Amino acid sequence: MKLSQYFLPVLKEAPREAEIASHQLMLRAGMVRQQSAGIYSWLPLGLNVMRKVEQVVREEQNRAGAIEVLMPTIQSADLWRESGRYDDYGREMLRIQDRHERDMLFGPTNEEMITDIFRAYVKSYKNLPLNLYHIQWKFRDEVRPRFGVMRGREFLMKDAYSFDIDEASSRAAYYRMFVSYLRTFDRLGVKAVPMRADTGPIGGDLSHEFLILADTGESEVFCHADTMKLPVPDRTVDYGDDALIAGIVDDWTRAYARTDEMHDEALWSAVPEGDRVNARGIEVGHIFHFGTKYSQPMGATVTGPDGKETPVFMGSYGIGPSRVVAALIEAGHDDDGIIWPDSVAPFDVGLINLRVGDQATDAACAALYEQMANAGLDPLYDDTDNRAGGKFALADLIGLPWQLIVGPRGLANGEVEIKKRASGERETLSMEAAINRLVAWREQVKERFGG
Ligand code: ATP
Ligand code: MG
Repeated sequence: MKLSQYFLPVLKEAPREAEIASHQLMLRAGMVRQQSAGIYSWLPLGLNVMRKVEQVVREEQNRAGAIEVLMPTIQSADLWRESGRYDDYGREMLRIQDRHERDMLFGPTNEEMITDIFRAYVKSYKNLPLNLYHIQWKFRDEVRPRFGVMRGREFLMKDAYSFDIDEASSRAAYYRMFVSYLRTFDRLGVKAVPMRADTGPIGGDLSHEFLILADTGESEVFCHADTMKLPVPDRTVDYGDDALIAGIVDDWTRAYARTDEMHDEALWSAVPEGDRVNARGIEVGHIFHFGTKYSQPMGATVTGPDGKETPVFMGSYGIGPSRVVAALIEAGHDDDGIIWPDSVAPFDVGLINLRVGDQATDAACAALYEQMANAGLDPLYDDTDNRAGGKFALADLIGLPWQLIVGPRGLANGEVEIKKRASGERETLSMEAAINRLVAWREQVKERFGG
C-alpha cells in the first residue's frame, strides 16, 4: 500500500477525553472514530488489525472443532421470554419495536438464538458433540462506556456454543475451548492468564476469564507466579484426546488465579509471598459451562443411546476482537506510539522514502516495494512529500514491526537502513540483505505464530 493512496487520518493530538494509552493511540493513529458514546467506526488501519485478530480467533476455533455460522444482530424478544432473560437482562439490553410493534432487541449475546437453532435440527446424541460459533456485533447499553473500544456499547464478539449429551462430555467441550483460548492469545503475541470467574447473568457452575495484565485494566488480579510461566500447547495439540486436553487445563488451573470478584483471602495467604502476583488485568475472553440452563426451559432435548430424551448440556465461550485490539496496544506501546505484535501488525514494514522526487531514491524505493510484495511481505510505502521527521514519527506511531529507511546518502553506497520498532535497533545493510532479513523474519513469525 502506498501511503499517498491510503486513508490514514492521523491526529496531531489525542482528544482530551481519551484517558488511556490505547484509546489515545487508536485515535491519533486514525484507527477508529467515535460516532456516539461507545459506538465507533473502524477506519482502514484499525479494521486491518481487527480482521487479523478475528482470523486468528477463527483458525483456533476451527482447529478445536467449532464450526462457524452467522446469526443476526437483531433478535426477537419472544426467544428471550422463553429463557426468562428478557426481564432479567435489565437496561443493558437495547430494546426495539418494529413497524408491527413487535418487540425486538439488539443482541447482547446469543444463547437463546443458538438454542433455538439447535432444537430445530438436532434430535439425537448421534449428532453430538456440536460447537457452533459466530463473529458478530453485539450491543450492550453499558452504564459507563469508556476507554474507546475497550468498553464500547457496540462491540465485536466471537461467541461459541457447545452442545453435548451429558455433563462429562460437556466439560470436555469446555476444556477444548479453554485450550483453544490459550493458543489464540499466544498466537496474538500476548500473555492472557485464565482465572476462576463469576458466571454473572449467563449463569452456570464453571467459568474462567482470560486476562491480559496491564496497569489500566479494570479488574484486579491475584495469581501465583507459576501460572505465568506455563508453556502453551503448540498447533499439533490433539483435540480428540480428552484426557490430554483435561490434563492441560489441570496444569493451568492448579495454582491460585482469580480476579477481585472471586478473590479469597484465606487461599491467597497460602501462596508464598514471593510468588504472589497482584496486578491489574483486561478481560479479553470469558468461558462458561452452564449445563441445561437454557436447553431446559427452551425444550432443546436430544435422545440418548438409551432412547431417553434429555435436555442438552451447553457452554458458551466469548472473545471480544474489538477489545483485544485495544488490549494489545495497552500491552505494547511506548512514548512514541504503538508496538504491534508481529502476528497481527497491520503491515509488516514501513518503507520510508527520505527524498521523494530524487530519481535514484524513488527508483530504489519502487524496486524495494516490488521485491517485498513478490516475497510475500506487506509494506506500507511512505511516498508522501512530508519531512523526514514527520515520516519517522508517523512510522513509530503506527508501530509496524520494521522500518526500511531509504535516502540518497545511503544509496550512494548501495545501502539502506533497517529499524526494528520494538527495540529501536538500527542497522545499515545492502538492499538485498535488508530484504533477506525481512523475509527470514516473516518465515519465523509464520513458524511461531502461524495457523
Ligand atoms: P465486562 O466484565 O468487561 O463487562 P462481560 O463479562 O460482561 O465483560 P462477557 O459477557 O463475558 O463480558 O463477554 C465476552 C467478551 O466480550 C469479553 O471477555 C470481552 O472480550 C468482550 N466484551 C464484553 N463487553 C464488552 C464491551 N462493552 N466492549 C468491548 N468488548 C466487550
Ligand atoms: Mg465476562
